[in-house]
Amino acid sequence: MAAGLRSFKAACPVCGEIAAHTASANLMRVVCLNCGRFQLSDAALQALVRLPAHERELMLTKARQEAQGGESYPSLRAFRGAAARATLPT
Ligand SMILES: [Zn+2]
Repeated sequence: MAAGLRSFKAACPVCGEIAAHTASANLMRVVCLNCGRFQLSDAALQALVRLPAHERELMLTKARQEAQGGESYPSLRAFRGAAARATLPT
């Protein structure tokens, strides 16, 4: 484990189940049994936890689609929540 990384178990920010977290200065990597692997910044994490569950899952789905298997940890970004909302039927 490289210096500056912290590994711990905590609630998954998407589904709430206990998941493995690895935190560096401004990036959290999560490995969740339900959600798979993803990463997000502190800012994205703060935004994510305020979203309802279905929007958190939508952000994860979009991150996976954009990564298309090319990234081992698809990146969740805060703005995607708002973008997803704008395209949802009301
Ligand atoms: Zn999860």
